[in-house]
Amino acid sequence: MSGKRRALGQHFLRDTGVARAIVDLVAPTTSDLVVEIGPGEGALTAELARRAGRVIALEVDRALVAGLALRFPGVEVLEADARAWDYRALAAPAGGRVLVVGNLPYSVGKPILAALIRARTAIHEMALMLQREVAERVAAPPGGKTYGSLSILTQLYCDARVASRVPPGAFRPPPQVESAVLHLRVLAAPRVPLVDERRFHSIVRAAFGQRRKTLANALAAGLGIPPRSAREAADAAGIDAGRRAETLTIPEFAALAARLS
Ligand code: SAM
Repeated sequence: MSGKRRALGQHFLRDTGVARAIVDLVAPTTSDLVVEIGPGEGALTAELARRAGRVIALEVDRALVAGLALRFPGVEVLEADARAWDYRALAAPAGGRVLVVGNLPYSVGKPILAALIRARTAIHEMALMLQREVAERVAAPPGGKTYGSLSILTQLYCDARVASRVPPGAFRPPPQVESAVLHLRVLAAPRVPLVDERRFHSIVRAAFGQRRKTLANALAAGLGIPPRSAREAADAAGIDAGRRAETLTIPEFAALAARLS
């Protein structure tokens, strides 16, 4: 595998059953607009072009863009970096949805996911293949080691579940890690009302900054406030300040944020 292919995470799906199953999660119809991220050699594009009303495919590798445009004349193939593309400008077709589908390049899976979450109000549903470990962190419930800021900051805006796991043998060349397909449905409004979303994000990041510390000590260290203030805020929110961040639900983080704002 060449250096360029490795850097761009070019592991192409060779299992058409897996491609179909990914697209089935969001079940595009002729009313829908689909944005495909990283079409590569077109394993998912073929399925999307057959089913969706309009397909925009974002591919960073110029060498692949030309081939895709020839093979799929109905698809708008754009040479673009999916981390920086303006998803917010997307408008849903009349009576249709905006869907995002992709077998993401794993080295930049998290920044692409972050860009999609920032643009969530323009998107209805997503089916994204990611490194299994990342997909599981995104969809994790409270209480375990995989639950953290990635889970909370995604689940604040989306219902998230791991729909399936995909073994390395489904790709050419096979990656060194396992993969999983994440199904995200964007909520009409954040899961809990928040006065200050930025403050909520910084509190979540601070709480998980030092996972082994108690909530009060992690917040104090991460936010630069006295531990007593962190304990008082937790008490006022009805949360035991001796708990670990990984046990708090999203509504509990929201209650805490309200007291720390
Ligand atoms: N969808 C294809 C498939 O399933 O066979 C290819 C998936 S491959 C894992 C990831 C694709 O994303 C590659 O084609 C790669 O060139 C492209 N890519 C890598 N970085 C990208 C970026 N920042 N923006 C858009 N595409 C990117």
